[in-house]
Amino acid sequence: MKTVKTISEIRAVIKEWQRSGKTVGLVPTMGFLHEGHCSLITRSAAENDKTVVSIFVNPMQFSPGEDLEAYPRDMARDTDMCGKSGADIIFAPDPEEMYHGDFYSYVDMSVVTDGLCGRSRTNMFRGVCTVVSKLFNITTPDRAYFGKKDAQQLAVIGQMVKDLDFDIEIVGCDCVREADGLAKSSRNSYLSDGERAVAPKIYKALQQVKKLAQCGEYHSSVLTESFFRSMKDEPVFTTEYAEVVDGLTMQRVEQIKGDGTCIMAVAVKLGKARLIDNIEL
Ligand code: AMP
Repeated sequence: MKTVKTISEIRAVIKEWQRSGKTVGLVPTMGFLHEGHCSLITRSAAENDKTVVSIFVNPMQFSPGEDLEAYPRDMARDTDMCGKSGADIIFAPDPEEMYHGDFYSYVDMSVVTDGLCGRSRTNMFRGVCTVVSKLFNITTPDRAYFGKKDAQQLAVIGQMVKDLDFDIEIVGCDCVREADGLAKSSRNSYLSDGERAVAPKIYKALQQVKKLAQCGEYHSSVLTESFFRSMKDEPVFTTEYAEVVDGLTMQRVEQIKGDGTCIMAVAVKLGKARLIDNIEL
Protein backbone atom coordinates (compact mmCIF):
# COMPACT_ATOMS: atom_id res chain seq x y z
CA MET A 1 0.00 0.00 0.00
CA LYS A 2 1.62 3.20 -1.19
CA THR A 3 1.27 6.36 0.92
CA VAL A 4 1.97 9.75 -0.63
CA LYS A 5 2.33 12.97 1.30
CA THR A 6 2.44 15.65 -1.38
CA ILE A 7 -0.29 17.16 -3.54
CA SER A 8 1.86 16.97 -6.68
CA GLU A 9 2.52 13.25 -6.20
CA ILE A 10 -1.12 12.22 -5.61
CA ARG A 11 -2.19 14.38 -8.58
CA ALA A 12 0.34 12.67 -10.85
CA VAL A 13 -0.85 9.19 -9.83
CA ILE A 14 -4.55 10.02 -10.26
CA LYS A 15 -4.02 11.86 -13.59
CA GLU A 16 -2.31 8.73 -14.93
CA TRP A 17 -5.26 6.57 -13.82
CA GLN A 18 -7.79 8.94 -15.33
CA ARG A 19 -5.82 9.18 -18.59
CA SER A 20 -6.33 5.44 -19.00
CA GLY A 21 -10.06 5.76 -18.34
CA LYS A 22 -10.16 4.57 -14.72
CA THR A 23 -12.85 5.81 -12.34
CA VAL A 24 -11.75 7.09 -8.93
CA GLY A 25 -13.45 6.93 -5.52
CA LEU A 26 -12.32 9.09 -2.60
CA VAL A 27 -12.78 8.21 1.09
CA PRO A 28 -11.82 11.21 3.27
CA THR A 29 -10.90 10.29 6.87
CA MET A 30 -9.03 11.58 9.89
CA GLY A 31 -7.40 8.16 10.40
CA PHE A 32 -7.40 5.79 13.40
CA LEU A 33 -9.55 3.64 11.17
CA HIS A 34 -12.22 1.17 12.28
CA GLU A 35 -14.79 -1.01 10.52
CA GLY A 36 -16.95 2.06 9.80
CA HIS A 37 -14.19 3.58 7.67
CA CYS A 38 -13.44 0.17 6.15
CA SER A 39 -17.06 -0.18 4.98
CA LEU A 40 -16.67 3.08 3.03
CA ILE A 41 -13.38 1.89 1.48
CA THR A 42 -14.86 -1.52 0.56
CA ARG A 43 -17.84 0.16 -1.09
CA SER A 44 -15.63 2.55 -3.02
CA ALA A 45 -13.42 -0.32 -4.18
CA ALA A 46 -16.54 -2.15 -5.42
CA GLU A 47 -17.90 0.87 -7.30
CA ASN A 48 -14.70 2.41 -8.75
CA ASP A 49 -11.57 1.19 -10.55
CA LYS A 50 -9.33 2.97 -8.04
CA THR A 51 -9.84 4.09 -4.44
CA VAL A 52 -7.95 6.88 -2.68
CA VAL A 53 -8.15 7.11 1.12
CA SER A 54 -7.13 10.45 2.57
CA ILE A 55 -5.86 10.47 6.15
CA PHE A 56 -5.61 13.98 7.53
CA VAL A 57 -6.43 15.26 11.01
CA ASN A 58 -7.62 18.64 9.80
CA PRO A 59 -6.56 21.38 12.24
CA MET A 60 -9.02 23.83 10.66
CA GLN A 61 -12.07 21.94 11.93
CA PHE A 62 -10.97 21.92 15.58
CA SER A 63 -11.67 24.88 17.87
CA PRO A 64 -9.14 25.95 20.50
CA GLY A 65 -9.49 23.60 23.49
CA GLU A 66 -10.82 20.71 21.41
CA ASP A 67 -8.97 17.41 21.02
CA LEU A 68 -6.65 18.19 18.05
CA GLU A 69 -3.45 17.17 19.87
CA ALA A 70 -5.06 14.20 21.64
CA TYR A 71 -6.83 12.89 18.53
CA PRO A 72 -5.76 9.22 18.20
CA ARG A 73 -3.33 8.32 15.41
CA ASP A 74 -1.91 4.98 14.20
CA MET A 75 -0.57 5.17 10.65
CA ALA A 76 0.83 1.62 10.56
CA ARG A 77 -2.51 0.06 11.52
CA ASP A 78 -4.40 2.41 9.18
CA THR A 79 -2.17 1.40 6.26
CA ASP A 80 -2.85 -2.26 6.93
CA MET A 81 -6.62 -1.71 7.16
CA CYS A 82 -6.67 0.33 3.94
CA GLY A 83 -4.88 -2.48 2.09
CA LYS A 84 -7.20 -5.16 3.43
CA SER A 85 -10.30 -3.10 2.53
CA GLY A 86 -9.27 -2.64 -1.10
CA ALA A 87 -7.77 0.87 -1.20
CA ASP A 88 -5.18 1.60 -3.90
CA ILE A 89 -3.35 4.53 -2.35
CA ILE A 90 -3.30 6.66 0.81
CA PHE A 91 -2.96 10.43 0.66
CA ALA A 92 -1.64 11.56 4.06
CA PRO A 93 -0.41 15.15 3.79
CA ASP A 94 1.13 17.11 6.65
CA PRO A 95 -0.80 20.23 7.72
CA GLU A 96 1.83 22.46 6.04
CA GLU A 97 1.20 20.71 2.71
CA MET A 98 -2.54 21.49 2.92
CA TYR A 99 -2.31 24.98 4.46
CA HIS A 100 0.65 27.01 3.26
CA GLY A 101 1.65 30.02 5.35
CA ASP A 102 -0.44 32.59 3.48
CA PHE A 103 -3.69 30.63 3.27
CA TYR A 104 -6.70 32.98 3.09
CA SER A 105 -9.57 31.14 1.35
CA TYR A 106 -12.41 29.34 3.11
CA VAL A 107 -15.65 27.61 2.14
CA ASP A 108 -18.50 28.75 4.39
CA MET A 109 -22.10 27.61 4.54
CA SER A 110 -25.24 28.70 6.37
CA VAL A 111 -28.55 27.03 7.30
CA VAL A 112 -27.43 23.37 7.10
CA THR A 113 -24.45 24.19 9.35
CA ASP A 114 -26.26 26.45 11.83
CA GLY A 115 -27.77 23.92 14.24
CA LEU A 116 -26.77 20.65 15.94
CA CYS A 117 -22.94 20.29 15.98
CA GLY A 118 -22.53 23.65 14.22
CA ARG A 119 -24.01 25.45 17.21
CA SER A 120 -21.34 24.40 19.71
CA ARG A 121 -18.45 23.53 17.37
CA THR A 122 -18.34 26.87 15.61
CA ASN A 123 -15.26 26.26 13.42
CA MET A 124 -16.07 22.75 12.44
CA PHE A 125 -18.07 22.97 9.23
CA ARG A 126 -16.01 25.81 7.78
CA GLY A 127 -13.00 23.54 8.31
CA VAL A 128 -14.78 20.50 6.90
CA CYS A 129 -16.08 22.33 3.80
CA THR A 130 -12.69 23.92 3.13
CA VAL A 131 -10.67 20.72 3.50
CA VAL A 132 -13.15 18.57 1.57
CA SER A 133 -13.19 21.15 -1.27
CA LYS A 134 -9.40 20.99 -1.35
CA LEU A 135 -9.45 17.17 -1.35
CA PHE A 136 -12.02 17.21 -4.17
CA ASN A 137 -9.85 19.59 -6.22
CA ILE A 138 -6.69 17.60 -5.52
CA THR A 139 -8.09 14.14 -6.26
CA THR A 140 -10.90 14.96 -8.78
CA PRO A 141 -12.83 11.78 -7.87
CA ASP A 142 -15.92 10.45 -9.64
CA ARG A 143 -17.46 9.51 -6.29
CA ALA A 144 -16.78 10.38 -2.65
CA TYR A 145 -17.92 8.28 0.31
CA PHE A 146 -19.21 9.62 3.64
CA GLY A 147 -20.83 7.90 6.62
CA LYS A 148 -24.44 8.51 7.69
CA LYS A 149 -23.14 8.34 11.26
CA ASP A 150 -22.11 11.98 10.76
CA ALA A 151 -25.51 12.93 9.35
CA GLN A 152 -25.01 16.69 9.47
CA GLN A 153 -21.61 16.41 7.76
CA LEU A 154 -23.14 14.28 4.99
CA ALA A 155 -25.94 16.85 4.50
CA VAL A 156 -23.39 19.71 4.47
CA ILE A 157 -21.22 17.99 1.83
CA GLY A 158 -24.30 17.22 -0.29
CA GLN A 159 -25.34 20.88 -0.12
CA MET A 160 -21.81 22.10 -0.92
CA VAL A 161 -21.52 19.87 -3.99
CA LYS A 162 -24.90 21.13 -5.20
CA ASP A 163 -24.15 24.81 -4.50
CA LEU A 164 -20.61 24.86 -5.88
CA ASP A 165 -21.17 22.50 -8.84
CA PHE A 166 -18.63 19.86 -7.95
CA ASP A 167 -19.07 17.10 -10.55
CA ILE A 168 -18.81 14.38 -7.90
CA GLU A 169 -21.38 11.83 -6.74
CA ILE A 170 -21.70 11.82 -2.95
CA VAL A 171 -22.41 8.35 -1.59
CA GLY A 172 -23.87 8.10 1.95
CA CYS A 173 -23.00 4.83 3.70
CA ASP A 174 -24.83 3.18 6.61
CA CYS A 175 -23.48 3.55 10.13
CA VAL A 176 -21.43 0.55 11.31
CA ARG A 177 -22.06 -0.33 14.97
CA GLU A 178 -20.48 -2.46 17.66
CA ALA A 179 -22.40 -5.65 18.52
CA ASP A 180 -24.07 -3.79 21.42
CA GLY A 181 -25.24 -0.93 19.18
CA LEU A 182 -22.65 1.77 19.93
CA ALA A 183 -21.75 3.60 16.71
CA LYS A 184 -18.11 2.89 15.87
CA SER A 185 -16.00 6.01 16.24
CA SER A 186 -12.31 6.86 16.58
CA ARG A 187 -13.31 8.87 19.66
CA ASN A 188 -14.67 5.74 21.42
CA SER A 189 -11.01 5.20 22.40
CA TYR A 190 -11.46 8.05 24.92
CA LEU A 191 -13.98 5.99 26.93
CA SER A 192 -13.00 4.26 30.18
CA ASP A 193 -14.20 0.67 30.65
CA GLY A 194 -17.10 1.87 32.80
CA GLU A 195 -18.11 4.53 30.26
CA ARG A 196 -17.83 2.04 27.40
CA ALA A 197 -20.20 -0.30 29.27
CA VAL A 198 -22.99 2.32 29.46
CA ALA A 199 -22.34 4.00 26.06
CA PRO A 200 -24.73 1.66 24.12
CA LYS A 201 -27.61 3.28 26.01
CA ILE A 202 -27.44 6.18 23.54
CA TYR A 203 -28.48 3.96 20.63
CA LYS A 204 -30.98 2.09 22.83
CA ALA A 205 -32.66 5.43 23.61
CA LEU A 206 -32.72 6.27 19.89
CA GLN A 207 -34.29 2.90 19.11
CA GLN A 208 -36.93 3.61 21.76
CA VAL A 209 -37.69 6.89 19.96
CA LYS A 210 -38.00 5.06 16.64
CA LYS A 211 -40.41 2.56 18.22
CA LEU A 212 -42.57 5.44 19.45
CA ALA A 213 -42.57 6.94 15.94
CA GLN A 214 -43.50 3.58 14.43
CA CYS A 215 -46.44 3.44 16.85
CA GLY A 216 -47.70 6.72 15.36
CA GLU A 217 -46.14 9.38 17.61
CA TYR A 218 -45.25 12.11 15.09
CA HIS A 219 -44.67 15.06 17.45
CA SER A 220 -40.99 15.98 17.68
CA SER A 221 -41.43 17.37 21.20
CA VAL A 222 -42.72 14.03 22.50
CA LEU A 223 -39.99 12.08 20.68
CA THR A 224 -37.30 14.41 22.04
CA GLU A 225 -38.68 14.15 25.58
CA SER A 226 -38.47 10.38 25.33
CA PHE A 227 -34.75 10.58 24.48
CA PHE A 228 -33.97 13.00 27.34
CA ARG A 229 -35.94 10.82 29.78
CA SER A 230 -33.96 7.69 28.81
CA MET A 231 -30.64 9.52 29.18
CA LYS A 232 -31.55 11.01 32.58
CA ASP A 233 -31.60 7.51 34.10
CA GLU A 234 -27.82 7.43 33.69
CA PRO A 235 -26.25 10.50 35.35
CA VAL A 236 -22.89 9.99 33.57
CA PHE A 237 -24.44 11.30 30.34
CA THR A 238 -24.80 14.97 29.49
CA THR A 239 -27.00 15.44 26.45
CA GLU A 240 -25.72 18.43 24.46
CA TYR A 241 -28.56 18.24 21.97
CA ALA A 242 -31.29 15.89 20.81
CA GLU A 243 -33.33 17.26 17.93
CA VAL A 244 -35.68 16.03 15.26
CA VAL A 245 -34.57 17.57 11.95
CA ASP A 246 -35.10 17.25 8.22
CA GLY A 247 -32.44 14.85 6.88
CA LEU A 248 -31.32 17.20 4.09
CA THR A 249 -31.57 20.72 5.53
CA MET A 250 -30.91 19.82 9.18
CA GLN A 251 -33.70 22.24 10.11
CA ARG A 252 -35.94 21.38 13.08
CA VAL A 253 -39.36 19.97 12.26
CA GLU A 254 -42.44 20.05 14.51
CA GLN A 255 -43.69 16.73 13.20
CA ILE A 256 -42.13 13.83 11.34
CA LYS A 257 -43.73 12.46 8.19
CA GLY A 258 -42.95 8.86 9.11
CA ASP A 259 -41.23 8.21 5.76
CA GLY A 260 -37.60 8.18 6.96
CA THR A 261 -36.84 11.70 5.66
CA CYS A 262 -36.40 13.08 9.18
CA ILE A 263 -33.82 12.02 11.72
CA MET A 264 -33.29 12.41 15.41
CA ALA A 265 -29.69 13.61 15.82
CA VAL A 266 -28.00 13.61 19.23
CA ALA A 267 -24.70 14.61 20.82
CA VAL A 268 -23.94 13.19 24.25
CA LYS A 269 -20.96 13.86 26.46
CA LEU A 270 -19.61 10.84 28.30
CA GLY A 271 -16.39 11.40 30.25
CA LYS A 272 -13.82 12.88 27.84
CA ALA A 273 -15.76 11.77 24.79
CA ARG A 274 -18.43 13.64 22.90
CA LEU A 275 -20.42 11.01 21.02
CA ILE A 276 -22.83 11.72 18.18
CA ASP A 277 -25.45 9.41 16.75
CA ASN A 278 -28.74 9.56 14.89
CA ILE A 279 -31.66 7.46 13.73
CA GLU A 280 -34.02 7.77 10.76
CA LEU A 281 -37.65 8.29 11.70
P1 AMP B 1 -13.63 10.50 10.52
O1 AMP B 1 -12.32 9.82 10.36
O2 AMP B 1 -14.24 10.32 11.87
O3 AMP B 1 -13.59 11.94 10.05
O4 AMP B 1 -14.62 9.76 9.53
C1 AMP B 1 -14.33 9.60 8.18
C2 AMP B 1 -15.56 9.08 7.47
O5 AMP B 1 -15.94 7.83 8.03
C3 AMP B 1 -16.77 10.02 7.61
O6 AMP B 1 -17.46 10.08 6.39
C4 AMP B 1 -17.58 9.34 8.68
O7 AMP B 1 -18.96 9.62 8.60
C5 AMP B 1 -17.31 7.89 8.38
N1 AMP B 1 -17.60 7.07 9.58
C6 AMP B 1 -17.13 7.26 10.83
N2 AMP B 1 -17.66 6.35 11.68
C7 AMP B 1 -18.47 5.57 10.94
C8 AMP B 1 -19.32 4.47 11.23
N3 AMP B 1 -19.43 3.98 12.46
N4 AMP B 1 -20.02 3.91 10.21
C9 AMP B 1 -19.92 4.40 8.95
N5 AMP B 1 -19.14 5.44 8.60
C10 AMP B 1 -18.43 6.03 9.59
